[in-house]
Amino acid sequence: MEPNMGDRGMRHGGASYESVNYFTSTPLYAEDSYLREFNAEVVKVGPRFAVLDRTAFYPESGGQPSDTGFLVVDDREIRVRKVMVRGREIFHYLSEDVTDGIQVNGVIDWEPRYFNMRRHSGEHLLTGLFERAGAGPKVYSDLTRLEFRPSGLDEEAVRRVGAEFDEVVDANIPLTIYYTSREELEGEEDERKRSFLDKIPRALERLRMVEIPGHALTFCFGTHVRSTGEIGRLAELELKMGKRGLRTVSFVLE
Ligand SMILES: [Zn+2]
Repeated sequence: MEPNMGDRGMRHGGASYESVNYFTSTPLYAEDSYLREFNAEVVKVGPRFAVLDRTAFYPESGGQPSDTGFLVVDDREIRVRKVMVRGREIFHYLSEDVTDGIQVNGVIDWEPRYFNMRRHSGEHLLTGLFERAGAGPKVYSDLTRLEFRPSGLDEEAVRRVGAEFDEVVDANIPLTIYYTSREELEGEEDERKRSFLDKIPRALERLRMVEIPGHALTFCFGTHVRSTGEIGRLAELELKMGKRGLRTVSFVLE
């Protein structure tokens, strides 16, 4: 990926990963969502888990599920069953114990990860389009649904958003990823951008913004496709009316 890092890009000098220095491990997935294999050193172990100095395994968070895969140790393959954030550490839950200090080769199960990247990027696009359609505050979203409350969303608006979604996919618009800071956001004239400040953990100084130019913008540390064409068109976009103005939209990609 060649995201637009601007002048504040993480490839500059010693500033690597400063946006995500929240973690004790270098989160390789944040620099390159297409990285499938990597070398790392085991820096902490426990019963069937390991922390690595760097990892391309995405830990469960933000509605995006954990990666799976394996660690190659000598000639053996040890399954990585689940990856979770524990405090500031990224824990890899394994099929067997490993030894502290050894070198490993990590391999991501690519098919489920790529499917998650497509759906998660689709979730970004839907969020932006529904926001523009006046759906009301989004209270939850994951890889299959979005919830707005209160919301006056109706069938007609959902149909329109579905058509717009497919147009943006067909236009194959590159996603843009860049970094900003609390200070910069505080000085923003755009009220919506300033509102991100309320949602971002205090401990994070550098913030990673993910934009589908013209359609969606939010802060996010997840994994994304390079361009909207990779998301693919919608096979389903369905509205459910809930109580007290809750609107749930579920989606399925082709
Ligand atoms: Zn994201």
